[in-house]
Amino acid sequence: MISRMGRSAWDTERRTTVWVDDGVEGLAPGMAGGRYRCRACGERLILKGARPSAKVQPHFAHRSNDGCSRPEQEALLDAADEVVIQLREQIRALPGVTHCVTASPGEDPEHPTGLPPAVLAQCGTTTVVIEAPSALPGPEAIRRRIRAVRDEHAGAAHVWFLKRDLAQFQQLAPHPVWLRGQKALHEQVAPNERQKAINEAGGHVYWLDGKAVLVPYGIRRFQHPVQPGQDWTNWKWRSDPRDDWRISKPRPAPDADTWGLVPVAFVSLTRTRGAFRPADAYQVMDDLYAAQERRITWRNEHAREVYAARATPPAEPEAEVEPQQSPPPSPVAAADGEAAELRTPPEPEPEPESLPATGAAEHPAGATPPAGTGTSAGIVPPPRPAGPPPPVPAPSAPVPAPRLWQRLVRLARRR
Ligand SMILES: [Zn+2]
Repeated sequence: MISRMGRSAWDTERRTTVWVDDGVEGLAPGMAGGRYRCRACGERLILKGARPSAKVQPHFAHRSNDGCSRPEQEALLDAADEVVIQLREQIRALPGVTHCVTASPGEDPEHPTGLPPAVLAQCGTTTVVIEAPSALPGPEAIRRRIRAVRDEHAGAAHVWFLKRDLAQFQQLAPHPVWLRGQKALHEQVAPNERQKAINEAGGHVYWLDGKAVLVPYGIRRFQHPVQPGQDWTNWKWRSDPRDDWRISKPRPAPDADTWGLVPVAFVSLTRTRGAFRPADAYQVMDDLYAAQERRITWRNEHAREVYAARATPPAEPEAEVEPQQSPPPSPVAAADGEAAELRTPPEPEPEPESLPATGAAEHPAGATPPAGTGTSAGIVPPPRPAGPPPPVPAPSAPVPAPRLWQRLVRLARRR
């Protein structure tokens, strides 16, 4: 029987995992006083093939010819290591990264956290500790690692790259957002207890998906309160206009209901000189926040307008739609029907609400459309600035509501 050629061991002297593929320089050969231990079974290992005269490749051997007594665990550790080693090479290749090694902060071989080694990278003056676990251990093990990183690498950013699998990516319906004049769909996840533990301890939870990194922001849903002088009904929206959400950024707040994800390129992480941060994602989040502020202002104003319009029916409706009284609507706005009639706010009212296709999943709390919203009635599309090119309407784009003058004619007939 030839014992299995182990590629890794826990080095009790350096207090980290060592791989023979990284070279055996500085590693004492043989038993080395019991320096090397198997991470699967805990047995003392022998470093063989480390001497220049050796006939075999360097490897760690168990004393027994049968190899490790826990071969399945050993194979899992090897597979998890492989992911970390690959990530280390990816990070080494990033521009601006000056130093990149693996380390196991706070790891105790007697009581292992179950986490593979982390990648420790230097980018400009900032240090970043990057985890890439195949599976997240329990919250206590996570907190232990976070404390150790704080103790050993004060001021370092602690980043966790998770896998896009069922255990680490609890996917929900896409989250529709209004971004830079366009409707976009962001992926949405329900964070689990472990991911929340990382986030709340100040760590960063990202998902690594090929060459893309998914960076989360918090989504907190709320209902606009009805203030005196406001009418939130009869907007002819498919969803309740009072249903809204707020973003928390650059990290999700602990009270976030779900997390929305901004995709950015992995190589963009070091784009900001001397820092390892998803600057592109933060920019998107800032844009989402600005859109939110405009949206909230617009809706509150519109609720007052609807109330005022109902309280005092216009005596001379024609006067309101005199073309010269409002800026000429752009072709885009005109095509949007009601958008052209709404008083154009200084900034576009973003967010034409949830897409009909995802509306049900978007508002699981049993939100019902406002009374009077028939199947033919659409969402009120927001007014758009005249400048940007027209967004291509999605197949599920809202049906434009009747133009104001048509509604006024109907109103006049009824009276
Ligand atoms: Zn073993």
